[in-house]
Amino acid sequence: MVRFRFRPKKALPDGLWLKCEGCAETVYKKELDANQKVCPKCEYHFPMTAPERIASLLDPDSFAPWFESVRPADPLNFRALKGYAEQLAEAQARTGLSDAIVVGSGRIDGSSLAFSCTDSRFLMGSMGSAVGEKFTRLVERATKEGLPVVSVSGSGGGARMHESSLSLMQMVKVSAALRRHSARGGFFLSILTHPTMGGVLASFASLGDIVIAEPRALLGFTGPRVIRETIRQSLPEGFQSSEFMLDHGLVDKIVPRPHLRATVRQFLEYCAHAS
Ligand SMILES: [Zn+2]
Repeated sequence: MVRFRFRPKKALPDGLWLKCEGCAETVYKKELDANQKVCPKCEYHFPMTAPERIASLLDPDSFAPWFESVRPADPLNFRALKGYAEQLAEAQARTGLSDAIVVGSGRIDGSSLAFSCTDSRFLMGSMGSAVGEKFTRLVERATKEGLPVVSVSGSGGGARMHESSLSLMQMVKVSAALRRHSARGGFFLSILTHPTMGGVLASFASLGDIVIAEPRALLGFTGPRVIRETIRQSLPEGFQSSEFMLDHGLVDKIVPRPHLRATVRQFLEYCAHAS
């Protein structure tokens, strides 16, 4: 007769395992990290922080941040459930970032570029005055120095409501800077990741000479639920996914994350140094 002995359960150390949002399977975090945060079972792309994205795309230690003195403010003294100033302070303490965007110079296989990346941990990667200003200055400096611009957007927040029209006017400002960059022969490659929405998609994120999306990202202006409730019609299959946007011309190419760096390098070779 087999005797069973009950042993106290060993608690798993925190953060070793994660539940995948794509397939609901349990995924070993080390395996996930080694695979650039793409689920090895279903290829769901987990969100990346700005530092992780820099490490995955750029040459090691090549990134140098620009315009770090540009920091967010609370000009409207905005308050919803919490004060905006308090939310900013919390996000800064939690992420170590001053705002939702990191900009600077970097290299891919030795080739220099101006780089920007939003971080969805910081108020859903939304664009307020400081984010818009940093992106604009990045593009202006890239134009002056003849550098291509590569941006990675992961912004579910769109334009940041806490700054009202001051956020909305960033859409015009960043778009105008990109127009001047383009007029001077500058190249801009935009990478869309899950999710990229609202005023970010409706401005710089969709203005790339080349627009690349990661697979199965949600890309749109207003979210599908709001649209469905407003127009009271069912939406097409796959609405606002990367694949849907590729079929409808907003996206040029869908690239799984493990191939992203090599693809960006190819586009830089073809386009950025063509003139
Ligand atoms: Zn999965």
